[in-house]
Amino acid sequence: MSDINNYVAPRSLDEAAEALRAGNVTLLAGGTDLMPQSRSGRTPLRPTLVNIRRIPELRGLSESGGTIRIGPLATITELRDSALVRERLQALWQACDSFASDQVRNAATIGGNICNASPAGDTLVPLLVLDAQVELASKPNGALAKRALPLADFVLGPGQTARASTELLSGIVVASSPEDFISSFFKFGTRPALDISMISIGFAARRAGKTLRDVRVAFGAVAPRPIRAPATEAALEGKALDDNVIGAAAKAADAEIHPISDVRASDWYRREMVRNMFTRMLTHVRDH
Ligand SMILES: Cc1cc2nc3c(=O)[nH]c(=O)nc-3n(C[C@H](O)[C@H](O)[C@H](O)COP(=O)(O)OP(=O)(O)OC[C@H]3O[C@@H](n4cnc5c(N)ncnc54)[C@H](O)[C@@H]3O)c2cc1C
Repeated sequence: MSDINNYVAPRSLDEAAEALRAGNVTLLAGGTDLMPQSRSGRTPLRPTLVNIRRIPELRGLSESGGTIRIGPLATITELRDSALVRERLQALWQACDSFASDQVRNAATIGGNICNASPAGDTLVPLLVLDAQVELASKPNGALAKRALPLADFVLGPGQTARASTELLSGIVVASSPEDFISSFFKFGTRPALDISMISIGFAARRAGKTLRDVRVAFGAVAPRPIRAPATEAALEGKALDDNVIGAAAKAADAEIHPISDVRASDWYRREMVRNMFTRMLTHVRDH
């Protein structure tokens, strides 16, 4: 732990950005990452703790003008209970459905999952295949300002993001998907309900008859950050799925991932899981 000497619970985004401008701030959302990490000494808390949970602008989920906007304070339970997420953002819904336990899901927020930037963060993989953008708010010159960047450019490495210390994540934006769009997410952990992913896979595409277009593939827990897999996408783009195409895509995936061996699995095992589970996912897409 560290010496917190100032606790702030702002009621607006403007107030929160003002608190961040003063510097030396740790942001608190659901606390499910922050609390264990600070207790273990991995993430020392800074002198000012800013609890953002009372900020209405950071809540909610809405669709308008061809985009779906997700507030960073949306909990995993709220996302799992949302018909909009279930029907339009299938891969994200599946990630929320396989995320931790009810207790953790009720507190954990999507913003916290993104900003924690774990290589195994479960919402990152589906958001990558949904081409999500993140929006950051700050008050650089005393007035509230926002910038947007692709999620793929936001997460830089384990626990590292492109967020400046004076910024907070204020929104996640995803394009509304067309009718022929499909997406899915697969996660493997030793205990599916409570374990961090050993590997995870996200897949999205537009389906024109048997042909796939605008293919997007992402992998989690097999590199220092969740990654898109461009060569794997190219192996599937414009193709009708058959055994040869699926085999070529699985081979391309194996060349694009860089798993490590750690306490949860070896490099070899992670590679086997990705190859087998990705083949299974694509076979499912072909047959349904
Ligand atoms: C038992 C257990 C099981 C878990 N299972 C899973 C799992 O299956 N899958 C998975 O992916 N994760 C899992 N986690 C990790 C954790 O629950 C998630 O990462 C969660 O989404 C974090 O959200 P939070 O609101 O609790 O974040 P917090 O702990 O409040 O914050 C996490 C980090 O993000 C920062 N932050 C939060 N919100 C913002 C914001 N709006 N702007 C800028 N920075 C912000 C904080 O300062 C902190 O650095 C598990 C954790 C536990 C304890």
